[in-house]
Amino acid sequence: MLNKIIAESNIQKAKKFIDKYDKMVIVTHISPDGDAIGSSLALYHFLLELGKLVNVVVPNDFAGFLKWMPGVKDLIIGNKNETLTAETIESAELLFCLDFNTLSRIDQLAPFVSKSTAKKIMIDHHPYPDNFCNLTISHPEISSTSELIFRFICRMGMFESLNISCAECIYTGMMTDTGAFTYNSNSPAIYYIISELLNKGIDKDAIYSKVYNNYTSGRIRLQGYVFYEKMQIFKEYKTALITLTINEQNRFQYTKGDAEGFVNIPLSIENVVLSAFIREDENVIRISLRSKGQFPCNEFASSIFGGGGHLNAAGGEFYGKLEEAVALFEKSLPAYKEQLLLSGSKQKK
Ligand code: 5GP
Ligand code: MN
Repeated sequence: MLNKIIAESNIQKAKKFIDKYDKMVIVTHISPDGDAIGSSLALYHFLLELGKLVNVVVPNDFAGFLKWMPGVKDLIIGNKNETLTAETIESAELLFCLDFNTLSRIDQLAPFVSKSTAKKIMIDHHPYPDNFCNLTISHPEISSTSELIFRFICRMGMFESLNISCAECIYTGMMTDTGAFTYNSNSPAIYYIISELLNKGIDKDAIYSKVYNNYTSGRIRLQGYVFYEKMQIFKEYKTALITLTINEQNRFQYTKGDAEGFVNIPLSIENVVLSAFIREDENVIRISLRSKGQFPCNEFASSIFGGGGHLNAAGGEFYGKLEEAVALFEKSLPAYKEQLLLSGSKQKK
């Protein structure tokens, strides 16, 4: 049996909303990752199974290695279809906000969501959720929103309506937000849930392969370049840094998602506790941080780059030149020296 995490009162409130309304819209965060797409499509398949009218809106496009997922062709990509996006969100009676905790994370969708008169339910695992929903189901102790979707469905007593497409999406989100169960994945419940998903008929090995053995050749060449030519190690801070300009991305025919996961790789170096990836994007510099042990990436990301995230995985943005973002990063390290040196390789449970 699965331990109860979500409060019974929240389950009852959500159930009432789901019973009452028919037109439902699911939104998730900008540059959606495996958990954002996984949790959104999982809930989509579940609500379809209940006979609801459901749409999923994502702010922008996402990595090709997620495009095999069941239901992907039904997604509305916000910045590619602005009219449909506005109409869809406006028509919602019930809005689900998945895998994000603050409206700024949905970029240009934020004004539509905030002015919508629909009831709103947040299901998320990022700490410090903003108060913009009628019901906030927030569990930072759970490693993925997709796991929360599984728990949510079970607790409503609707396990029968969790079909194989829903199960595949849940598994994908759980897998990608834990680096294929290599971090934030010590909870026995995760493996209980996996066994239930296997009972639903998922092929977990095939899902792994579709996500992790499905890269472009450009990505692999880019990876070689980045780690051979670009990685810096700041030994005195147990920190690794990689950077990538637009020119370098173009050199390797960069497509969206080609650098996803790079930031995790330096953590496999002994004595590296913090890994940073600073990448030039179209109008912004993106910062990704990962850590081992207790080093708080989210604190660093929020105080230096106005971002946020989890203890061991966070991100932020910088408006300016890549070199300036790098200089700011380097300048900020000394203040964190003690925490970096204290942070061992012990994983938070
Ligand atoms: P990634 O490095 O994969 O882009 O993001 C890692 C984690 O940090 C994710 O959980 C994501 O939600 C969070 N994150 C990334 N960028 C930002 C940001 O700009 N603002 C906030 N609040 N969180 C972010
Ligand atoms: Mn997530």
